[in-house]
Amino acid sequence: MNPQITALLLCTILLSQSHAHSHTVCIIGGGIGGASVAHFLRHYSPPDAISQITLFERHGVVGGRLATVTISGETFEAGGSIIHPKNYYAWNYTLLLGLRPEVPSHSDDSLSLGIWNGHEFVYKTLNSNSKLPIVQRLVSIANSIIMALRYGVVSLFRMNSFIEATINKFLRYYDGLESRPVFESVEAMLKWAGLFNLTTITLGEKLEEVGLSSILVQELVTVITRINYGQSVNISGLAGGVSLAGSGGGLWAVEGGNWQMASGLINRSDVELHLNEEIESVYYLGDAYELNSTKGKSYNCQVTVVATPLDEVNILFNPAISIPPRKLQHTHATFVRGLLNPAYFGLELVSDIPELIGTIESGDLPFTCISVLKQHEKDMTYKIFSRQAMADVLLDKIFSVRVETVRINWAAYPHYHAPETYAPFILDGKHLYYVNAFENAASTMETSAVAAENIARLILSRIVEKSESTSPNLKIFSSDSSVSGLRSEL
Ligand SMILES: Cc1cc2nc3c(=O)[nH]c(=O)nc-3n(C[C@H](O)[C@H](O)[C@H](O)COP(=O)(O)OP(=O)(O)OC[C@H]3O[C@@H](n4cnc5c(N)ncnc54)[C@H](O)[C@@H]3O)c2cc1C
Repeated sequence: MNPQITALLLCTILLSQSHAHSHTVCIIGGGIGGASVAHFLRHYSPPDAISQITLFERHGVVGGRLATVTISGETFEAGGSIIHPKNYYAWNYTLLLGLRPEVPSHSDDSLSLGIWNGHEFVYKTLNSNSKLPIVQRLVSIANSIIMALRYGVVSLFRMNSFIEATINKFLRYYDGLESRPVFESVEAMLKWAGLFNLTTITLGEKLEEVGLSSILVQELVTVITRINYGQSVNISGLAGGVSLAGSGGGLWAVEGGNWQMASGLINRSDVELHLNEEIESVYYLGDAYELNSTKGKSYNCQVTVVATPLDEVNILFNPAISIPPRKLQHTHATFVRGLLNPAYFGLELVSDIPELIGTIESGDLPFTCISVLKQHEKDMTYKIFSRQAMADVLLDKIFSVRVETVRINWAAYPHYHAPETYAPFILDGKHLYYVNAFENAASTMETSAVAAENIARLILSRIVEKSESTSPNLKIFSSDSSVSGLRSEL
């Protein structure tokens, strides 16, 4: 259905049902999650249901974990960088905001790959510098044969089937509103899509169950989970499936930086944006929340949305909230303009070093991956991910030339477990919502958007439900209801 008609229909239904007074919504966090909540609230709600949306961002820019880094005058993605071809919200945002998708010049699937165990490359694909399509095709065929010989055709096929099945279940979150309920908990959301069981078992266990060879799990799969989540195959099967999906073909990014999705959505959602303003406490006052910021200001909001992981931020909630403890996995992203030292890898020439160096789980490995971001005339720009900060002495061993180095320590994503436990979407049973409860399932731009879309509908359904006595049809947003003909397209 045409998106405008969808929004219009939804507005019309809500208008006929909505409560007389409109609500103020405050959002804490200007990442893709917070921006998406603002966007979907505006998209789904009738004009007078929400009088104001105020968004607080502690930093001077929005985007959060979507940010670029500048090295030697050129910018590269520093955090969330690649988008899956079936990430429809990211795709729709890009079109809606007039942004341009691009295939990263050195996307992981086009790079030559080497798997480093700390002593040698246990697996290496062929590399061709030729631009001739026929040569590239031949190299690609040869690489497929090398991969099949090491990991087994059947195992690779089973791995792809597992990825496809996981993606297909996730695609249910784009179903129309007539068949997709509003979810009050992460568990319900995952169970509905058939994804919950994958969070009760580790990726390693799941892949053993589907019959993958152990060498494939210990090498290629481990390389991928280390690149995407900095963790081993002990992450949950769902986080693992999402991670593996991010290693396929057709990956893309927003030209100029993925953070523009967050800024564009905020700009077009009639949001009062407070940059450089950190919320330090949230008090429930009976009919509204009082948000206090580090600027000494207070704000009254009937609805408050937390759109940041609560694990490492210091927000005081009164009354206190209770969420399961969660550790964040820190990923140190180090950007280097220079040249890798072939001797460190037991090689003679820089050109022998694979463009993407993945690693297996081994205690003494100082990095999880190194990839070429750009090849310059005489040197390259590299991105290194590691679990610990990369000290200068170490970098001087790995690099023979180092012109510029930039380091970022990301509180990157949850440290995944199986079985996972989840914080509630509604933190206090009232109107305090938590988008990043969904991050225990998986952490990506798209999962943030999917969770945010649900939170926006949850808010609207519960605002409307307050006036249920005057509006008999208000169950349209509740979990067992349906609105025929509506879709969630943008
Ligand atoms: C190194 C790295 C690589 C990644 N790679 C990918 C990838 O390739 N593809 C992909 O899809 N995803 C990737 N991700 C994950 C993805 O970036 C995140 O899942 C997503 O951006 C999370 O968005 P969010 O809005 O939920 O949270 P955030 O982006 O963390 O936004 C939260 C915002 O809240 C602000 N904030 C926090 N506390 C307060 C406060 N008290 N008051 C006001 N503001 C506050 C923060 O400053 C921040 O801007 C990667 C992440 C990292 C770190």
